[in-house]
Amino acid sequence: TVVAHFGGQVLVEDEAGVPARCHFRANLEQLVVGDRVIWQAPRVEGDGDGVVTAIEPRQSVLKRPDNYGNLKPVAANVDRLLVVFAPMPVPSTALLDRYLVAAELSGIPATLVLNKADLIDAESRDALDEITDIYRHLGYPVIEASAEDGAGLAALKTALTGYTCAFVGQSGVGKSSLVNAVLPGAELAVGDLSGVSGLGQHTTTTARLFRLPDGGRLIDSPGIREFGLWHISEEELLHGYRELSERAGHCRFRNCTHRHEPGCALREAAENGEVSEERLHNFFQIADTLDEEGRERYR
Ligand code: GDP
Ligand code: ZN
Repeated sequence: TVVAHFGGQVLVEDEAGVPARCHFRANLEQLVVGDRVIWQAPRVEGDGDGVVTAIEPRQSVLKRPDNYGNLKPVAANVDRLLVVFAPMPVPSTALLDRYLVAAELSGIPATLVLNKADLIDAESRDALDEITDIYRHLGYPVIEASAEDGAGLAALKTALTGYTCAFVGQSGVGKSSLVNAVLPGAELAVGDLSGVSGLGQHTTTTARLFRLPDGGRLIDSPGIREFGLWHISEEELLHGYRELSERAGHCRFRNCTHRHEPGCALREAAENGEVSEERLHNFFQIADTLDEEGRERYR
C-alpha cells in the first residue's frame, strides 16, 4: 500500500507494516496514497530503492482539480468518509449535502460526525437534532463526539476500525483535532518518515496513510479535507441525492426539470413530507452553482 507520495518516489508498506522507499515505472498511471501496488524490493537488502511495477484496480478514487482545472486523483481505496460538522461554525445542510453527494458519486459510504458535542446547549440542541434527523432518516449514521472532552470517541473509533477512512468537512469543525484524537502519535509517524525514507524533513508530501491502533487506516491531507464536488452535471448531482434520484423516474414528464412542471414526483414528495424540503431546496441551490463553478474554473 502506498502510504506517502513524494516527487518521484513513493513510500510503500507491506502487509506487516514494513516500509520501503520505491521508484515507479514511468508507464504507470499516477500513484496516489492508498493505492495497492505490486513492487520489488531492492536486489541487495538495504541497497537503494524498490520499484513499483503495477497498480491494483482501485475500489474508489478521491479526486480534486489541479491548478489547470484537470481532475487528479489524490487518494485511492478510501471506503469510509467521515463528514464532520459542529455547532460552531454553524452547520449548513447545503454544505453537508455537497460532501454527501461527493461521497455517493465516489461510491464511498459516509458517516456524519457531529463534533464539539461539548458546545451543544439547550438552545442549539433542537436545530442540530433537526439536521441529524434528516440524515439519519436517509440512512447516514450520525456520531456525536467531542475531540475536546473525549465524549463519543469510542463510538467514532469503532466506526473507523477495519476501514480506510478520511475526514472531510468545513474548516474549523475540528478535523485535525479528531485525527489527533483517534491517532495518538500521528505527528511522530510523520517525523519518523524522514528517517525511514531518507528523504529529509524538507520533503513535502501530499497525503499520508496512517494505521489506526485498532486496525484500519486513515488517509489525511489538506487536499483530501477539501474533497468536494468538481465538474459534475445536474444529472450527476441528482444521483448523489439518494432519495431524490429514486423518485425522479416517476415525474409525469421524462425531461422534467423538477422546477415548475405539473406532476413532478420530487416536488410532490417534498410537499407530502416524504422527502425533506430542505434537501430539495439544497439540490436546486447547488445545481444553480454548478454552471457558475464551471465558468470560474475555465475562465
Ligand atoms: P479543522 O479546521 O476542521 O481541522 O479544525 P481544528 O481541528 O483545527 O479545530 C478548530 C478549532 O476547534 C480549534 O480551536 C479546536 O481546538 C476546536 N475544537 C476542535 N474540536 C473541538 C471540540 O470537540 N470541542 C470544542 N469545544 N472545540 C473543539
Ligand atoms: Zn420532476
